[in-house]
Amino acid sequence: MKTLLKVAGKNTGYTLQPVSLTQDEVTQFYSGFSNEIIWPLFHDFQSRCNFEPAYWDIYQAVNRKFAEEIEASSSRDDYIWVHDYHLMLVGRELHNMGIRQKVGFFLHIPFPPSDIFMKLPWRTQILRALLEYDLVGFQTIHDRNNFISCVENLIRGLRCDSRKQVAEITVADRDVQVGVFPISIDFDKFARTAVEPAVTEKVKQFCQAIENCKLILGVDRLDYSKGIPQKLRAFDNVLGRYPELKGRITLVQIVVPSRQDIPEYKELKGEIEGLVSQINGKFSQPGWVPIQYIFRSLEFHDLIAYYRAADIALVTSLKDGMNLVAKEYCAANVDNNGVLILSEFTGAAAQLKKNSLLVNPYDIEGVADA
Ligand code: UDP
Repeated sequence: MKTLLKVAGKNTGYTLQPVSLTQDEVTQFYSGFSNEIIWPLFHDFQSRCNFEPAYWDIYQAVNRKFAEEIEASSSRDDYIWVHDYHLMLVGRELHNMGIRQKVGFFLHIPFPPSDIFMKLPWRTQILRALLEYDLVGFQTIHDRNNFISCVENLIRGLRCDSRKQVAEITVADRDVQVGVFPISIDFDKFARTAVEPAVTEKVKQFCQAIENCKLILGVDRLDYSKGIPQKLRAFDNVLGRYPELKGRITLVQIVVPSRQDIPEYKELKGEIEGLVSQINGKFSQPGWVPIQYIFRSLEFHDLIAYYRAADIALVTSLKDGMNLVAKEYCAANVDNNGVLILSEFTGAAAQLKKNSLLVNPYDIEGVADA
């Protein structure tokens, strides 16, 4: 374990400290509460939630474990910064343990509107726990406003000033700042790597392999929030409605394996592979297969080469906190000839809308036309 952490922490500028979990905790805290409740609910998929009461107890216990580890490894003048939906209660647990340092929290995923958040059986506890932080950060103004309206609807006796860029909520005698800090990428690293000779050579190879075709690229983790079946249906639709594009466009769809111990993710993989084979079966002709499907994680230089080679990047997330693939594609677009077709339901759309083609991923014909 120690060697593993050393390797993972190398060149990051910080050291990693393990928090040991039992197999049962991993199942109920990570797969369970985090990924069968919070992930689907916060991405507006309330019907996919499994509100299993036992998950809540384990979620609290594991957040407590993280807080204990923080207490053991931090000093008085440290600023404590907690990341993401797995650890929403850590601030509360730290306060319960008497820790008085400043603690901030950043949510990488969307925050849902009040009528969806209300479905959460532990809605008040979670909101109160988030208000234990000194600073709460979101990806977009939309997420921030959803959070504030949930707080106003569910928690009494507080004052909220949301006119400023960083809103302020006064709870008893404490002020909680609530801001928007969209996450980004190391732009220079992507732009620099894209022009490396080895990457340029790969770009040539990728383009030669699909001779005379425009390359449309999809890069998504295996997740229902990414709208991969919707993207495939739009590609099917475009080939059906614009037959002149047969033999002239190729979709390279990279799907990165993820959370395969959750049954819904296995089903999604089956659905995607069924659609790919259906579409390829329907349209393939000598010398042209419409979809190249890659189910694995790519080596960094291959990914950048795909970004640079792609004429179009197609992002059809049904809901996405940010979508870094969209930003990485833009950064690697060193030849300045790429087009980003981007779901309006991504955090990235708030920042990239002026220079991309925004689409509603549920509108199959609209995506096809874009
Ligand atoms: N990515 C990767 N290996 C791959 C393809 C993609 O590590 O084979 C990375 C990609 O560079 C990006 C991340 O996975 O940084 C995906 O981030 P995004 O915000 O788009 O979606 P998330 O998976 O976090 O929901």
